[in-house]
Amino acid sequence: METIIIRAASGKRELEPAINAILRGGLVAFPTETVYGLGADAFNSTAVRRIYEVKGRPSDNPSIVHIASLDQLSDVAIDVPPHLYDVLRKVWPGPFTVILRKSPTVPLETTGGRETVAVRMPAHPVALDLIRGSRPIAAPSANLSGRPSPTRIDHVIHDLMGKVDVIIDGGDTYFGVESTIIDFTGRRPILLRPGPFTLEELRKFFPDIEVPEFARGIREADAALAPGMKYRHYAPLKPVTLVECNDVDYMVKLASKLIDEFRSKGMRIAVICSSETCGSYSGVELINIGSRNDLYGVARQLFDSLRRVDELGVDAAVAEGFPEIGIGLAIMNRLRKASGFNIVRC
Ligand code: AMP
Ligand code: MG
Repeated sequence: METIIIRAASGKRELEPAINAILRGGLVAFPTETVYGLGADAFNSTAVRRIYEVKGRPSDNPSIVHIASLDQLSDVAIDVPPHLYDVLRKVWPGPFTVILRKSPTVPLETTGGRETVAVRMPAHPVALDLIRGSRPIAAPSANLSGRPSPTRIDHVIHDLMGKVDVIIDGGDTYFGVESTIIDFTGRRPILLRPGPFTLEELRKFFPDIEVPEFARGIREADAALAPGMKYRHYAPLKPVTLVECNDVDYMVKLASKLIDEFRSKGMRIAVICSSETCGSYSGVELINIGSRNDLYGVARQLFDSLRRVDELGVDAAVAEGFPEIGIGLAIMNRLRKASGFNIVRC
């Protein structure tokens, strides 16, 4: 099919083909402040099914419903805890996704067959204009299933050109990792996926928030609680080994030893390393992910770095770990999953 590309910077009127595509049941890839989303009318089950076909996404992996005003929340969710509204007024629009009981009007295609729904109000003017002009939009990330989420327009074009109606080019996304997801359907809020809205900030609103081990990415997700997270995620096609140590010097030594072992077998290796440590490696392809002193910068580079592994045509990659502080928790969750839990610790 023909895919129209729109430059988001050009203004509201230029979004019309995208708005019309959503209203007609088509698919639109659009920028958000986290990653690019692949959206369809959240109430149109046929349109949502097409998202899954295009991405190759398993139908039991639910999508997030994106809204543009707090009023729309009651169109998609029921039994919203009253105190949650006070929080949502403060944190929305933003990278904060809530799991609630779904309204009967939301089709099961959107929620992966579940009676609960994920809802978020994105903080990107283009995403908000697109929703305001059309409908609440169901959107998973705009990548082929299993691949790193798209944070740059060329990632979206690479994965989806010719497969969707419209791609909106909004440049590089701001945070570069997907939203924080919190489940509010139980007695205590549960962190299902760490994201740019950090655990430290969350604890100010919800001191009793539960943080399961799978939210840190140290083991596979509980399928009943966090559907879809059981699938291989974020991963380059080549194997990634993650090296985790509190002490950076020791980590570099351990990574170097691992690299020597791989190279002695004749393998070509890429290393995802920080600007402080990349200079310590030789005989490898270097993928500089940014400074250890700027974890927000590292998050922005993360998925592009994982895609670079495949572009470089190496046999395998070694990735350095980062502290689980602030957005570092989201970075480590993604890196651990990308490695398929293939982790070497000090
Ligand atoms: P993506 O936008 O591709 O990162 O995928 C959205 C993720 O949100 C899914 O993989 C699920 O893990 C999570 N999610 C969406 N809806 C629900 C739900 N009803 N219950 C629990 N998790 C959900
Ligand atoms: Mg995704």
